[in-house]
Amino acid sequence: MTSKPRPSFPARLDRAPGPAPARGAALLPMSAAKPATAAAKPPVARQQPHGLGLDSHAVRQAMVNKLAGQGISDVRVLSAMGTIERHRFVDSALVNQAYEDTSLPIGLGQTISKPGVVSRMAELLLNGRPGKLGRVLEIGTGCGYQAAVLSLLASEVYSIERLRGLHDKARENLRPMRLPNVHLLFGDGMAGFAKGAPYAAIIAAAGGEAVPQAWIDQLAMDGRLVAPVASSTGGQQALMVIDRTPQGLRQTVLEAVHFVPLKSGIA
Ligand code: SAH
Repeated sequence: MTSKPRPSFPARLDRAPGPAPARGAALLPMSAAKPATAAAKPPVARQQPHGLGLDSHAVRQAMVNKLAGQGISDVRVLSAMGTIERHRFVDSALVNQAYEDTSLPIGLGQTISKPGVVSRMAELLLNGRPGKLGRVLEIGTGCGYQAAVLSLLASEVYSIERLRGLHDKARENLRPMRLPNVHLLFGDGMAGFAKGAPYAAIIAAAGGEAVPQAWIDQLAMDGRLVAPVASSTGGQQALMVIDRTPQGLRQTVLEAVHFVPLKSGIA
């Protein structure tokens, strides 16, 4: 390509009259020319009639790059995090913080989980195995963000929330996204959801002092459960992974985390 002569000035006079070439592209050697699609992109403001006053795709991509920098390497997870618009799940006053790696209030004393934690847990659930997860049970729908992320990684997502106000909010947030494989349930997730069992994966977004037996009972063979569990002394939480293997249950305790408490009953 370097041996090709550069187009000489005034190159554009050789062209038949027609639409102007993309700015900056016509006089550059091919190797330096920007792809036409990038140059032809309409202004961002017109693409985002609702939500962030900036290019949410670019901000989300920056978040994905940070997640990759923090060690998230499963491309399926990175792609799901780049696809689901987190700013649609938070209050309009918090939209500008939607792509920061921080939990944010979603009402009723609860929070939307940090992107770093959502992607870490999703990667643990996928466990490097190819393809999609089968049925997944999520305890603690909250605003529905993680359920939306999981919907891109699993065949079916059953998500339970114990607070009616948040269950309704999640339903509203998810409606325009039309995710037919997300099933929102209102109830006490301590009992799991036996009708959807067995699950290839179970994920809890709230931490108790132990993993309820019902969750373990509803975990499929070769399935994996990821949940925050608090130590009875001091309440410090850690991420716990439980694998059901043909040889029995295998439990691994990973890094410290901070989740809202797992509570029983509905409200
Ligand atoms: N998954 C959410 C995080 C929500 S925070 C996200 O995408 O960010 C955790 C949620 O767990 C709270 O909404 C809380 O009400 C809920 N929760 C706590 N105990 C529960 C239980 N026993 N059953 C169902 N939901 C529970």
